Amino acid sequence: MITANPEKVAVIGAGIIGTMTAWQLATRGYDVTVFDQWNSPNDRGASAGESRIFRTIYKEGPEYVPILRKSFDKWQELQTNQNTSVLTMCGGLMIGHPDIEDVAAVIDCAQAADLDHEVLSQTEMAKRYPQFGLDSDEVGVFDPVAGVFRPEAAVLAARKEAERLGANFKAYTRVLNIRSLSHSVMVDTADGAYAFDKIVVSTGPWVNELTEFDSSTVEALRLVAMWFPAKDVALHTPEHMPISIRRHPEGGFSCFPALDGLGIKILPHHLAWKTLDSVDDLPRFIENEVVQSTEHAVACLMPGVDPIPYRVSTWTEGFTVDGAPIVGPSSADSRIVLAVGMSGQGFKFSPMMGSIVSDFVETGSSSDAIAIMDSQRFDRSSS
Ligand SMILES: Cc1cc2nc3c(=O)[nH]c(=O)nc-3n(C[C@H](O)[C@H](O)[C@H](O)COP(=O)(O)OP(=O)(O)OC[C@H]3O[C@@H](n4cnc5c(N)ncnc54)[C@H](O)[C@@H]3O)c2cc1C
Repeated sequence: MITANPEKVAVIGAGIIGTMTAWQLATRGYDVTVFDQWNSPNDRGASAGESRIFRTIYKEGPEYVPILRKSFDKWQELQTNQNTSVLTMCGGLMIGHPDIEDVAAVIDCAQAADLDHEVLSQTEMAKRYPQFGLDSDEVGVFDPVAGVFRPEAAVLAARKEAERLGANFKAYTRVLNIRSLSHSVMVDTADGAYAFDKIVVSTGPWVNELTEFDSSTVEALRLVAMWFPAKDVALHTPEHMPISIRRHPEGGFSCFPALDGLGIKILPHHLAWKTLDSVDDLPRFIENEVVQSTEHAVACLMPGVDPIPYRVSTWTEGFTVDGAPIVGPSSADSRIVLAVGMSGQGFKFSPMMGSIVSDFVETGSSSDAIAIMDSQRFDRSSS
């Protein structure tokens, strides 16, 4: 049973982090109001684009594994409560030469966290997964607890679950400013000012607008995604093909199985992602170099698809200089809790981001928080 909490909490930003936070706060009885400048879900922020990866064997470090495991349980809870499916478990592969840093990091993580995994030789991979073109000395590290999300459906499910528990969503309401007063924190919008006890800032790529961070700490980058038609679509669906991350001299990318009945999605990693001057003006233009080098990588490494994309689109996300999210109290006012700079990682562990943020709102600390996400680490490093 949920016990009503008289505290009023605003969540600014209703992408996956804000909607999950709203859900988690609502389960603790808070009076929650969520603001977004668009609707929730929307296709302007970081939480859209047909597919996202869930993986447990984490090249970014074994310290994330407890958060990933708990997130997985919360994803199941959300799907059960909303009677929906947003995550298809198809397994995951890290593919490359075993000496490549990310491949070695995945094997180290599996061993350090004692996670089920298989290291498949090129011959075993070719038999099980003919979708991938492989060099004879490459391996595939198989993660059985991995899968593919439908991000728009996931945001919608989290929002509906938050609403079911009483959260109030204010769509098309841009927050212009946050003000700290002695007895409240104010949210200023074009429609008026609202008083709250606490505020959560989950503004994704718009992180430089309502926080203390400038672009030397966290900035919005442009990511490109491309869809390539599969010759045998069924073979490239999650029933037959895991999600994968590829590291190869011809290119590096994340690869998402076909969800649209036509082809796979490729997110190239091998060219630096561009800094955006303004998140509101995310350009649709994509340089030929990006398209051609990705076509080349796909032609070399994905034999079952036609290497000419039928869809090329741009997306944005907030990235910190050290690649770890920022989660915890603002140094400006501890009543403001930050959950920003997810650095290309945030979807999979968003339920636990919501839970950790709710801990900070409730008690000022969280036993699930990990040190690398400390919201005040940049203050210390600059002092
Ligand atoms: C192309 C791409 C691929 C990715 N792949 C993966 C993956 O495979 N697996 C994974 O785990 N992660 C992945 N990520 C990262 C993950 O998707 C993000 O970390 C996550 O979606 C971030 O969610 P968010 O809620 O922080 O941001 P957003 O979804 O951008 O939400 C922020 C919201 O805040 C609103 N907002 C901003 N400013 C204001 C304001 N002033 N007033 C009101 N509203 C405001 C925006 O409108 C927006 O809706 C990927 C990211 C991208 C871009």
